[in-house]
Amino acid sequence: MNSNELFERSRKVVPGGVHSPVRSFSSVGGTPIFFQSAKGAILTDVSGREYIDYCLSFGPLLFGHRHPEIQEVVEDTIHKAWSFGACEPYSLELAEFIVGKIPWVEKIRFVNSGTEAVMSALRVARAFTGRSKILKFDGCYHGHLDSLLVKAGSGLAGESSSDSEGIGPEIIQNTLVLPLDDEKNLENLFDVMGNEIACVAIEPLPANYGLLPQRIEFLKRIQSLSKKHGALLLFDEVISGFRVGFAGMAGITGIAPDLVCYGKIIGGGFPVGAYAGRKDLMDLVAPSGPVYQAGTLSANPLGMRAGLATLKKAWAEDPYPNLSKTTDMFTKSMVELLNQKSDKEWEAVTYGSLFWLKEKTPIIRAISEIPSSHKSRFAKLFHAVLNQGIYLAPSGYEVGFLSTVHDFNITEQTLDLTKKAIQGL
Ligand SMILES: *Cc1c(COP(=O)(O)O)cnc(C)c1O
Repeated sequence: MNSNELFERSRKVVPGGVHSPVRSFSSVGGTPIFFQSAKGAILTDVSGREYIDYCLSFGPLLFGHRHPEIQEVVEDTIHKAWSFGACEPYSLELAEFIVGKIPWVEKIRFVNSGTEAVMSALRVARAFTGRSKILKFDGCYHGHLDSLLVKAGSGLAGESSSDSEGIGPEIIQNTLVLPLDDEKNLENLFDVMGNEIACVAIEPLPANYGLLPQRIEFLKRIQSLSKKHGALLLFDEVISGFRVGFAGMAGITGIAPDLVCYGKIIGGGFPVGAYAGRKDLMDLVAPSGPVYQAGTLSANPLGMRAGLATLKKAWAEDPYPNLSKTTDMFTKSMVELLNQKSDKEWEAVTYGSLFWLKEKTPIIRAISEIPSSHKSRFAKLFHAVLNQGIYLAPSGYEVGFLSTVHDFNITEQTLDLTKKAIQGL
């Protein structure tokens, strides 16, 4: 088997040959690689070639692929049940574990993806406030729900236009969009229509359009304006939750959101999402309240137990300081190597175990500041390192991740491969 043949076959039966767009390599060019297995930090493709993985399934694998302790739990579960569609203790254990550790999570509901989590949390916010409008920020991704698949419009501040065909104007008219890192626009918008806003949704660490760490004052301003105008604050921590620290960005910044969404790490590599928050808000959800939300496979035992094993390990071992240090050192060395062979300087933006490789610029906090040359420069880098056996996320706008198994050996090996790769740059 080889990837080219499989991609040809796949394109005949699957749109674009893939089940999620970035996987197609459309952003970097070339044919996507088909993988057959993964263990630790290593991916193996269908022809048996190995790659060191810095995409890590876009974030869920905090302890790398198939960590033995988590695999054991998964194997045990396989012999117990695959799905009940009924009550079981596993989701309860995960719920209690999270509620017991994260103060602003008073109640939690499990779903099957980050998209579902955000969609449901917004429904709760609209029900609680009796308002329709949602404010989001340009460059934040919240999944593919219709109402948030929007970008800033060209006209008035707050105006939006859809980011996809198939989303009618009646759906996006209730979504307001502002640039990140801009208090002035935020204040103006709240002045004009603050009392129509049900919810402000933000990735407190925007990591889906490059990595754009926000000033804490900006996040605090969002919180205070929301509070003042009776809007709810939703932190979308699908990528940052349990990744930058156990309690995510809310824990780091000390800003407690009204509602929070999790995904990725919470399922330990299986499809799990969750929305959570204040008891009075979550009690609006059926069957205790009037906001309907359901799921045939919700709280699936495999995801619940893999998630619990992952979160328990993260809580017990606190891998975050070391992950941060390794990520910092590794990306600094990587950038030094790249700069030996590059006309324009590279740099790595990092936050915890997330990193974003880009050309050196003054600090970027809003998407309008990302250089237009970034995409093509990244594409060259992507293929140069891929040829040597390093797998980065196949888009210059996706971040990279380290896991706890990305130890000194793995990162040194990566740097050796990078030395070879830059000969081809
Ligand atoms: C990945 C992601 C989502 C969407 O989660 P899915 O499980 O892909 O639906 C939502 N918000 C953020 C911040 C994400 O990183």
